[in-house]
Formats: sequence, structure tokens, C-alpha cells
Amino acid sequence: MISEMEIYDISQTLCHGIAVWPGDPEFKHRRVSQIDDETASNVSAVDMCVHTGTHVDAPFHFERTGKGVETLPPSSFMGPARVFSLAAGDCVRAADLCGLDWANVERVLFKTRGSRHAESTFNRDYVHISYDAAEFLVERRLRLVGIDSPSVDAFDSSDFPSHRTLLRNEIVILEGVRLQHVQPGDYELICLPLKIAGADGSPVRAILRR
Ligand SMILES: [Zn+2]
Repeated sequence: MISEMEIYDISQTLCHGIAVWPGDPEFKHRRVSQIDDETASNVSAVDMCVHTGTHVDAPFHFERTGKGVETLPPSSFMGPARVFSLAAGDCVRAADLCGLDWANVERVLFKTRGSRHAESTFNRDYVHISYDAAEFLVERRLRLVGIDSPSVDAFDSSDFPSHRTLLRNEIVILEGVRLQHVQPGDYELICLPLKIAGADGSPVRAILRR
């Protein structure tokens, strides 16, 4: 039997009031049927932007002809992952990464101050990944890059160099993870996206286990 103690849920809770990127639709969850004397079941409907909470980005997010999330191999989202804790100021730079141990890393998660931010407040000065760090990660031939920020690019970015660099090189992006209770080290990551045809991303339930 797998002990619950070894499983870390690193997902945000999808609920009314969860922070969304400014301008994106708010998360809505409504009950379309409710148990009462005449109704046998509760049935809900959800209306949300696919980039809400803990989610993955597909290449189609930034490329007109890029792959949709439903075509990405499930194996990208399951397997060994290393968590690094970074005391980065505004952004993760290549200089912050080159001294870390990258041996056998296929997936990486960056724990920054973002994991301490409230899920209900959109914080514009989150830690982003610089272009030179994105290039460094491409050279590592990773399959997935994750961070506890709402985006791998800066809030005021207009050309999104880190998204483009990672996605163009078939590295999937996992954003909005919660790592406040996770120590740096090696885990197994599972964060499968929903199979939504033609979607540029998907919410995920992300977990780490030892
Ligand atoms: Zn996204």
C-alpha cells in the first residue's frame, strides 16, 4: 500500500476567487442539477481559462501551427523530476542554474517565493525564467520545466522569449505549482493534462511522490 505521507499534492485548488491572469475569464463552477426530493444527483459545470491555477502549456499557446495539448505524449508528464529551491530575485538566470547538479535530470521544478503567494491574489512580480536560462534548459534536453509562477516569462513581456524557446524545443511548461511543503530533491512527477482537442494548455492535478 502506498503511504499518503509520500505523496505531495502540488496543485492549486480550483475554486471561486482563484487568481487568474488579468483579463482572462474568471473560474466558474456552477451546479446545474442539485439533489432534492425530485432530483437524484448533483451535476456541475465548469467554465475556465485553461491557464488557470496549476496547468501546462502546449506549443500551440505561442505557435500558430504548434501542437495542441491533446497530442503531447503522456510520458512528458510522468516520470522523474528534480526540485531545486532558488532564492532568485526577479528571475531565474543561467548563472543561477549552471552551478546546480543536472545529472540525469529529465524534468525540473523551480521552487521560488511564488509558492508562498496566496492562490487568490495575482502577484505581478513573480519570479520568471530569463531567456538565457531557457536556452540553458534546452541544452539540458529536458522534457518538462515547471515553476511556482503563473508564467515563465515576466508579466510585462511582449515577446515571451522563454515560452517560445522552451515550447519550440518540445519542452512542456508546467506553471502555477505549489511547492511550499516540498523539499528540494528527486521525486516522481505526475501532472497529466486533460485531452482537450486543439487546446493551448490544460489544468492538471500535479503530484510528486518519493
Ligand atoms: Zn500557461
